[in-house]
Amino acid sequence: MARVGRVIARPDPPAGVDPAAAGSGDPARRAELARRLSVIEERIATAARTAGRDPAGLTLIAVSKTYPAADVVMLHTLGARQFAENREQEAGPKVTMVTRELAQVSGDPSAGGGDGLAGAGVAPGAAADPAPGEPNVIWHFVGQLQRNKARSVLRWADWVQSVDRSALVGVLSRLAVERGRPLSICLQVSLDSRSDSRGRVGSVVADSGRGGVDPGELPALADLVDEAPGLTLRGVMAVAPRGEPARPAFERLRAVAERLVVDHPQATVISAGMSSDLEAAVAEGATHLRIGTALFGERPGVP
Ligand SMILES: *Cc1c(COP(=O)(O)O)cnc(C)c1O
Repeated sequence: MARVGRVIARPDPPAGVDPAAAGSGDPARRAELARRLSVIEERIATAARTAGRDPAGLTLIAVSKTYPAADVVMLHTLGARQFAENREQEAGPKVTMVTRELAQVSGDPSAGGGDGLAGAGVAPGAAADPAPGEPNVIWHFVGQLQRNKARSVLRWADWVQSVDRSALVGVLSRLAVERGRPLSICLQVSLDSRSDSRGRVGSVVADSGRGGVDPGELPALADLVDEAPGLTLRGVMAVAPRGEPARPAFERLRAVAERLVVDHPQATVISAGMSSDLEAAVAEGATHLRIGTALFGERPGVP
């Protein structure tokens, strides 16, 4: 999914499926999700216009962590196609449920297959997004990844956006080759203003609790991913640091992304912007927006 323009143009329901029954479930919840989705689409469109950008160049990723599979299915029937999770334990069963339900709705057992081999080797970014009406779902992992969880994450993830250290690259590469389907990678960048480009800040970055490689260490990590079989380097991901304005942080991210793309022309993704700061992210060139609470409602006390 996920071009915002495509989301606004609601996909037609699959032939033979009663739209009222498809993605059934609590009608009140469905109405709430529809309302929230249109509010977000409007915010994104307005932010794009303000920044002089085409909203069609922006991809909405619904961050479904802590919310039930039924919400994901409902949002899918409303047009959303890309979803993100941050905990392997929670995501595995949820993805299985969503895949099963969507296959029933569409009558297509391959529903939920994600951007598989068909997406490999073609124009990065764009070609991986399914067209409207297709049952496909693209799943992103955006949480802190431990090596011993990589195998289960790769059972369902099409993208891992949170690669921030070289120790992850080998294992992700091996598992992506093993499963026979490439894995899209974003490198998570630390935007802590106390970071600098000389890589002195490991402990400070750890203190921020948000992860991310120091910008100075990004080029080496990018080279490693780019050379790794089974991995496709897509770009960068970041979370704005707490307690400071988002816009200058996203401005630093943009500079990092512009340097990255010189060496890796296909790595054009800038995944930045959440419910509270998407306007700042769009103003600073974000291509992928990761929206949770504004789409689904407040999370029950879980980060
Ligand atoms: C939870 C989360 C989001 C979404 O945040 P909201 O404020 O709920 O929109 C985006 N990115 C990451 C990495 C997250 O963990």
